[in-house]
Amino acid sequence: MNRSRYDLSRPQVAELLADAPRYRVDQVWEGLYRDCSEPDDWTTLPRALREQLSESLPRSLTEVLRSVSDDGQTIKYLWELADGNRVETVLMLYPDRATVCVSSQAGCAMACGFCATGQAGFARHLGVGEIVEQVALARRDASAVDRRVSNIVFMGMGEPLANTDPVFEACRRIHDDLGISARSITVSTVGIVPGIRALAEFELPVNLAVSLHSADDESRDPIVPINRRYPLDAVITACQDYLHKHRRRVSFEWAMISGVNDRAEDAERLAGLCHRLEPSAHVNLIPLNPTPGYATVGSTLQVVRGFQRRLEELGVNATIRRNRGTEIDAACGQLAAQGVSISRRTDTRA
Ligand code: SAH
Repeated sequence: MNRSRYDLSRPQVAELLADAPRYRVDQVWEGLYRDCSEPDDWTTLPRALREQLSESLPRSLTEVLRSVSDDGQTIKYLWELADGNRVETVLMLYPDRATVCVSSQAGCAMACGFCATGQAGFARHLGVGEIVEQVALARRDASAVDRRVSNIVFMGMGEPLANTDPVFEACRRIHDDLGISARSITVSTVGIVPGIRALAEFELPVNLAVSLHSADDESRDPIVPINRRYPLDAVITACQDYLHKHRRRVSFEWAMISGVNDRAEDAERLAGLCHRLEPSAHVNLIPLNPTPGYATVGSTLQVVRGFQRRLEELGVNATIRRNRGTEIDAACGQLAAQGVSISRRTDTRA
């Protein structure tokens, strides 16, 4: 039994339509991947077939709640899966692009203290179809306002490189069938070394982002516990492997936490790691978003800007990430699938 209509490969769809004329396979595939619509909408198909397909091609995501912010430019979806677990997806519309932030697991086992998903714990891995369907459904809404989804980031709930097979297969579908270029797909990891190695071997040159947050093991251990298993040196070595294989610049994510990782010496250590990935890794500075289980506060914008300047003096390009969806808990590290939308006005947009 498939969990999602997007679990099926094209030959499997053809098998399902074995009794129908061959062109039906194209029509169904277009309905799924070009239009991202429901079998009921595929009016080029006979009604009986549409009804049959509605049953044999089930949806895996049921919308529980949709929260909108940034004047309608950010939409957070809360989905319920067939087994009752819940995950979230975020669609962000920008003037020049539209990005979907997808979840790769229900919950997360990495337990990073400042991240709401980590605070909630791990439920299970998502399957290929459950990942692809998030993109398809967000794309449907983007199309309704004449926008095309151009970028995919695996920065929702979960650790994508702890779930490599489904995540890689989902990347193939997003690339081959939804037509999004590999350089517009980014896999973000806490630093799972075997996963980074597998990404280096993966045939699609998707982008690699590593959530570093600290440039020395002693201070990284407590905020990113998996660092005890995969310390920084091993992470950077695996990133070098990826860089050599794909010739694509690596980026580091750095949530700015007041007094923890926002001092001049932190910038200097970080620059040292960046230069090991020649000419240099790129740094994304994320103003820390509030989560219920973490008392420490984010750095002020002034400190974030000073940190950025110091990195640039040291020859490292750094951008400050614009915060989307903070007031609907849709920003980095705030996805927790509670189904309650707390109305909190903490607009930290740069
Ligand atoms: N597990 C993957 C994917 C999650 S991506 C990873 O760790 O990369 C989500 C990004 O948001 C990561 O860089 C994560 O470290 C960051 N993040 C988590 N909690 C945050 C918070 N409270 N404020 C800002 N960024 C946060």
